[in-house]
Amino acid sequence: MRKGLVTMYDKTKEYLYKNFNLEGKIIDYVNEKENNILEKFKEIDLIKEYNQYKVIKAMQDNRLSSTDFYWTTGYGYGDIGRDKVESIYASVFNTEDALVRPTIASGTHAITLTLSGILRPGDELIAISGAPYDTLQKVIGVKGAASGTLLEYGIKYKEIPLLNNKIDLNRVKNSISSETKMVMIQRSTGYSDRRALTIDEIEEAIKSIREYNSEVIIMVDNCYGEFLELREPTDVGADIIAGSLIKNPGGGLALSGGYVVGKKKLVEQVANRLTAPGLGKECGLTFGTSRTTMQGLFLAPHIVAEAVKGALLFAKTYKDLGFKVVPDLNDERSDIIQGIELLSPERVSEFCKGIQAASTVDSYVIPEAWDMPGYEDRVIMAAGGFVEGSSIELSADGPMREPYYVYYQGGLTYEHCKLGVLMSLNNLYIKNLINL
Ligand SMILES: *Cc1c(COP(=O)(O)O)cnc(C)c1O
Repeated sequence: MRKGLVTMYDKTKEYLYKNFNLEGKIIDYVNEKENNILEKFKEIDLIKEYNQYKVIKAMQDNRLSSTDFYWTTGYGYGDIGRDKVESIYASVFNTEDALVRPTIASGTHAITLTLSGILRPGDELIAISGAPYDTLQKVIGVKGAASGTLLEYGIKYKEIPLLNNKIDLNRVKNSISSETKMVMIQRSTGYSDRRALTIDEIEEAIKSIREYNSEVIIMVDNCYGEFLELREPTDVGADIIAGSLIKNPGGGLALSGGYVVGKKKLVEQVANRLTAPGLGKECGLTFGTSRTTMQGLFLAPHIVAEAVKGALLFAKTYKDLGFKVVPDLNDERSDIIQGIELLSPERVSEFCKGIQAASTVDSYVIPEAWDMPGYEDRVIMAAGGFVEGSSIELSADGPMREPYYVYYQGGLTYEHCKLGVLMSLNNLYIKNLINL
């Protein structure tokens, strides 16, 4: 290294040491791990570059204009900005139509609208990537005792577990019948120990299904997957997909919201569920959020790349300490999540406390496991974002169940992710929960 660089490196180390109470040993260790993965950042940058151009092109093609950022009141008829946001999302995801609203409360809400908007009593839904995300099991009605579940409305449900972490295409083929209205694929890991399904794998599954069934609706839960690859599930034949704006596509700026993109007829059914049959997409206020929704989408490919680099640093750091990491270092990544099998509740708790302490907002708060609405096990969450609960910002969480995985995700800048690695590791180290 040049002398000037050595000095800067030392200054940063000294600053961290003095101001964040980090052991010198921890800083050296993480810096060494970082040096070992810099090569891998190149591929992430290439994906970022492609997706950045894709988003810019969508904004230009749809003539995004300074006057699109005004907002309406009342019913929200003729909200040009809202319509523009939706056509831009449709362009980015290469679909006929889109529903993008700040009033969709979460990813769970966006997916629930999609399921309940399209499925009718007697229809069958098959989850072909194993048990869906925790909150969706409640929505379907297979876990917990919420009212208004899909099962209560007479929708039938089957689940096909993954086989060696892959979609079991033979079993899927034997399970789809004339009653099957929809198959659902979850791209991201969720709270499981499998890596995300890649777009290639999703494409293979869709092609296989289409060989014997042209009718069944293929839906993908795209949460945490946006901009991880050059293509999205809708580029490879998914009929409809849904996700959250306080994850990847909101780029850290969207204040709330969800999106659903896909075939026009299906998006219309979903919109009729969101508002009312006959009203569909034509009304619903955006409360002046169109500007940040668009600015966030513009930043999203960049932010996602920062977060994925952070995920790699977490993976390298913890793998070299002997923990199992999912995805593994050389796995192809299709979501921003980094799972780390910590094997004890104390480690999960100390890890999350370290992440919380690295936050910009609420850094002084100590996270505790609690009974979160929608989840069956107690969950501990470290999140100190500018937008509450936003998991494209530096965050970590884990359900308190064996084998005690912690799931780290997000970070709007790589440096913030690195501080998260440093502070979580330092916390484990000073509590004698790891050997260095
Ligand atoms: C986050 C997530 C959801 C639900 O999103 P919320 O916004 O937390 O309701 C659904 N599916 C997957 C795979 C997720 O990661």
